[in-house]
Amino acid sequence: MDLFDVFTGHAKKYLSDTAASVFPSPDAIAALDAFDTPLQDESIDPLQVIELLSSSGADGTVRSSAGRYFGFVTGGSVPAALVAKLILTVWDQNAALAIQSPVAAKLEMVAAGWLIDLLGLHDDTGVGFVTGATMANFTALVSARQHLLTQFGWNAAADGLFGAPPITVIVGGEVHVSLLKALNLAGFGRERVVRVPVDGQGRMDVSRLPRIDGPTIVCAQAGNVNTGAFDDLKILTGLATISTWVHVDAAFGLWAAVSPRLAHLVKGIEAADSIATDAHKWLNVPYDCGLVFVRNRIRLINAMTSGAAYLPTGDVREPFQFVPELSREARGIPVWAALRSLGRNGIREIVERNCELATRFGDAMVAKGYNVLNDVVLNQVLVSFGSDERTTAVIRALERDGTAWYGGTTWQGRVAMRISISSWATTETDVDRAIEAIDRVASG
Ligand SMILES: *Cc1c(COP(=O)(O)O)cnc(C)c1O
Repeated sequence: MDLFDVFTGHAKKYLSDTAASVFPSPDAIAALDAFDTPLQDESIDPLQVIELLSSSGADGTVRSSAGRYFGFVTGGSVPAALVAKLILTVWDQNAALAIQSPVAAKLEMVAAGWLIDLLGLHDDTGVGFVTGATMANFTALVSARQHLLTQFGWNAAADGLFGAPPITVIVGGEVHVSLLKALNLAGFGRERVVRVPVDGQGRMDVSRLPRIDGPTIVCAQAGNVNTGAFDDLKILTGLATISTWVHVDAAFGLWAAVSPRLAHLVKGIEAADSIATDAHKWLNVPYDCGLVFVRNRIRLINAMTSGAAYLPTGDVREPFQFVPELSREARGIPVWAALRSLGRNGIREIVERNCELATRFGDAMVAKGYNVLNDVVLNQVLVSFGSDERTTAVIRALERDGTAWYGGTTWQGRVAMRISISSWATTETDVDRAIEAIDRVASG
């Protein structure tokens, strides 16, 4: 057997095994110790390595690619994007420069144009293909920093932040941790922020925004990671001025824009200076893939570009000018493949189906006498099974049961089970099986 036959056999078996436990058993996790060997001196046949990986590794995976993984906010991989990623791995292209991979540069440019059109963004938007929303937030904040300080006569790219005019950063009380991480990386500091109080769904209370004075970044959120709630983007993006940059963390919420039924939730987002989102969540491309959008593309390029004598400076779109990295994976290719295969209707269908299934799930929980702690406006449902201890025990028992997997959270002082429906693979049957299992486990 050759290496690729082993791979194909393994891939088909893995992807078709829909009965497997969604979370590995304690025994399967313990069996991963088989990998704990000292590094040997001699080379080993790659066939043996791949056989070891696929036989001993598969049982230690979390089946997040299947339809009953409801943890965090996790997409699967639509088939075209999954195989496109395999092909680009075979090609092993360096997608930094057009001259290193004309196909990567072309497909990234095409995908960027399609995304701008699909999501209703400004024609001049700069699009960077990064690893995830954390890096998208970071890239946007660095663009904001560069642009705002330039307005005040300071070149942060050249001179750094020491001695620069201070920038006020405003976030909501329910800001995502990754945005705080990005603030830390970008030199703003996690704690050096003005936090605006939020309402019961986690939305910024815009009546309590501070007075804005001097260079300011306002960080809004589209899609709270617990409740799915959206900040009032019309009001918040309306704050943008020459010295106020409005950024939106829309890691999954941005995709509401593809549905006429849900688009009202993101109304106003097109006026944001920058938006961070993920492709590995609701667009259902494989990890890792995030997207940053900067409304004036030159502001993204100004912050990200680097010049060296050997780097080309022609008219073609050079992928590296839109992102922090130089050498990088051709992330535009799986994005292109997902968009090309799904089309507008296919993407809308996934988003709408996931939201309908979240409503179905939430309604079933209420009907069975459990507490749903949030307004189910999107794909997120928070469930309490009574006391905090009981909710935690049910989450643990559901993990052992293996039918589905859910994370836990604390929402405004109460422990909750978090249901996120974000996968193209999730069907009504999956949700009904998951509800059945909850019934079985929570009543036992
Ligand atoms: C998932 C998420 C992030 C972080 O995204 P990564 O892809 O994990 O880096 C940021 N913000 C929100 C609202 C998210 O849901």
